[in-house]
Amino acid sequence: MYAQFDVSQSKNIINDVLIICFFFVYKLFLPAEIFMYKPFKATSTEMTHNTQYSSDKPVRIVIDSESGFCFGVSRAVSMAEEILKMNEPLTSLGDIVHNNEEVIRLERKGMETVLHRQLDTLKNRTVLLRAHGEPPATYRILKKQNVKIVDATCPVVLKLQHSVRKAWEEAKISNAQIVIYGKKGHPEVVGLLGQTDDEAIVISSVDDIGMLNPARPVEIFSQTTMSNSGLDGIEQKVRETFASNVRIHRTICRQVENRAPHLKDFAGEYDLVIFVGGEKSSNGRMLFEICRQANPRTCYAYSENSVREEWFVPAPRTVGICGATSTPHWLMEKVAKKTNEFVKKVMI
Ligand code: SF4
Repeated sequence: MYAQFDVSQSKNIINDVLIICFFFVYKLFLPAEIFMYKPFKATSTEMTHNTQYSSDKPVRIVIDSESGFCFGVSRAVSMAEEILKMNEPLTSLGDIVHNNEEVIRLERKGMETVLHRQLDTLKNRTVLLRAHGEPPATYRILKKQNVKIVDATCPVVLKLQHSVRKAWEEAKISNAQIVIYGKKGHPEVVGLLGQTDDEAIVISSVDDIGMLNPARPVEIFSQTTMSNSGLDGIEQKVRETFASNVRIHRTICRQVENRAPHLKDFAGEYDLVIFVGGEKSSNGRMLFEICRQANPRTCYAYSENSVREEWFVPAPRTVGICGATSTPHWLMEKVAKKTNEFVKKVMI
């Protein structure tokens, strides 16, 4: 007796198996965090305000829907909020994001922020490592002190750390100089330097190229939040000086790279632009400069309290509000409300 073989049933089974395989392969190539943490999605907001003097046209206040937290920062903030929601004590090693207002908001929910010089004092607790990443020494110290690590290092930064570590290992044979184009002392740069036992050379501009040895090959990585034009200038100068012994890794983050041209267009569309960013945000300063070049009437606001009445004289017809990858959307909304108050005041 032979068992009956049902062709349509077997096709269904094959289809099911293919779908399951596809799902697992898909998950394998997608960072797991994408499934775990929903990226913060900024919403576009537009306020219009009719005034006595604007006889026919209202003043438009527009918040840029593309501005606000990048994937890495929104992921770190979501991770912190998940823990705080469970009423668990949480310590952030350094400011979770380069934006004081957001740090204060999370501290009100119970998060504590400590400085790196307090690292040795952190024992038996939960410590969040922010999106900028940390050098290997931080992990070693925390593990010794029985600390539960919540690692919110951005996957893009983590990949860069691995690439720098690999290049550093290879440079022991090739005698190449590992160079990081970034801001000296910036937490991401500290984390990258740690991959090379602090032996990589940090350059912040073309003026620092003299620090390199022209007799040795050069391998350059960039901090993720540097400007493309800055890296272009360095590449040109280094290639002139070092001829063929140069490898440039263009490791500026896409989220920063894409935002720069977008903000350039955005800033050009408004009479007045208010850029919202933290005092310590290097990404904020860089994007602000891009806006200012596109529109000289661009002002920098840390929060709604730093918006100034004189910015609205002469009265603008349109105001664009935008921000850095570390600027929370709720803060841009507060700035928009304040802007609306000033607009009313100067137009009456
Ligand atoms: S700017 Fe890019 S690399 Fe840096 S935290 Fe955001 S997503 Fe990650």
